[in-house]
Amino acid sequence: MKIINLNAIQILDSRANPTLQVDVILEDGSKGSFQVPSGASTGIHEAHELRDENMNFYHGKSVMRAVENVLNLREKLLNQDFTQESLDSFLIATDGSQNKEILGANAILGISVAFAKACAMHFSLPIYEYLRRVAFKINMENKKVRNLEDIHLFANIINGGLHSGNKLNIQEFMIVPTNGSPIEKIRAISEIYHELKSIIEEKYGKNDTAVGDEGGFAPSISKAEEALNLIVEAVKKANYEGLVTIALDSAASDFYDADLKLYEVEPGLKLDYKKLSAYYSDLVAKYPIVSIEDPFAEDDFEGFAYFMNNLPTTIVQNPFNKDSKIIVVGDDLLVTNPSRISMAMEKNLCSSLLLKINQIGTLSESLKAFSMANGAGWHTIVSHRSGETSDDFISDLAVGLSSSIKIGAPARGERVAKYNKLLNIYSKK
Ligand code: PEP
Ligand code: MG
Repeated sequence: MKIINLNAIQILDSRANPTLQVDVILEDGSKGSFQVPSGASTGIHEAHELRDENMNFYHGKSVMRAVENVLNLREKLLNQDFTQESLDSFLIATDGSQNKEILGANAILGISVAFAKACAMHFSLPIYEYLRRVAFKINMENKKVRNLEDIHLFANIINGGLHSGNKLNIQEFMIVPTNGSPIEKIRAISEIYHELKSIIEEKYGKNDTAVGDEGGFAPSISKAEEALNLIVEAVKKANYEGLVTIALDSAASDFYDADLKLYEVEPGLKLDYKKLSAYYSDLVAKYPIVSIEDPFAEDDFEGFAYFMNNLPTTIVQNPFNKDSKIIVVGDDLLVTNPSRISMAMEKNLCSSLLLKINQIGTLSESLKAFSMANGAGWHTIVSHRSGETSDDFISDLAVGLSSSIKIGAPARGERVAKYNKLLNIYSKK
């Protein structure tokens, strides 16, 4: 496939920070465009997001160097024949650094995904169908194809941590409907979300129903159990009891004191990894929690390994694990990086991959990460970032891979775009 036009501009993300949009046009006129997302609770091992660091522009966050880097690649990319794999390999080699700090992972990912979208158009395929074919071409060893309807949605309906102004240190309290088609699951999420709003309003007043970065409510509470009680009540009120499980994302790197080796999981409550494991086990014994993401800091391998050897049993059937132990999801731990995934598999640190394409910086490496996790029988969850745009590519990616997806709450346009893309894919037209 030959690219005949490549463009990049600076746009804004959902936190009013600059990011990139990259546009690609192929020889036959097929077009692809991608708007790159950006995290807040960013893992230290993620590929490098290039920002200008000039405090006179957007508080140092402008991305004009990344834009320039894309434009400067025109000379090398235009009118050359590429496949997804050869394009991504070329970009990685041209950058030449370990973490894509020269061109910027944001610049590289923009080109990689815009090209994939243009190729889907070239083949007149829906993006998810094109991605399915690319994924299985690149990773022929990966034969474990899941059912298209198996997709689970992780909906973050109470926000804490770096995504809100409240005192909840655990970052995400998610609901995961277990029954029905994706369309029915989205209906459940929406109905529970509305019940939650009215419960928060009743308990804490109208002022406390403002939302955090991912569209979930951010009431002024500080204890995990307060958040979990609100969710359990909302699920009951919406008549979904027994049909919805709960998932947490601790994002524990953000409340870890590496010098003292202590986690401040709630204000004033500082625990070592063994006590934090017991804290999680207590929650799992009381609430229908089936999954915990980043329960420990990204390099606390001792904590992850200890927890994996002492996993609590869920009080409900776990849709992701037949033996009813919770699943442990690696986000900052794995950073969608095949070498971190190998290491985590060797050391038995987790049992599920959170897949964020901008953590690694190319589509091919993301598909490799998926293939490794899926091949090892891990659960996989394609994920948004807390800083998003209205780009809905990750919904296609999740459907193409028959993977679960984490896209926040069904509120705020940049989150709703992903829900609506799923509704478009699954609704019979
Ligand atoms: C997460 O931690 O899973 C997340 C989506 O947040 P961020 O994008 O801030 O890393
Ligand atoms: Mg996370």
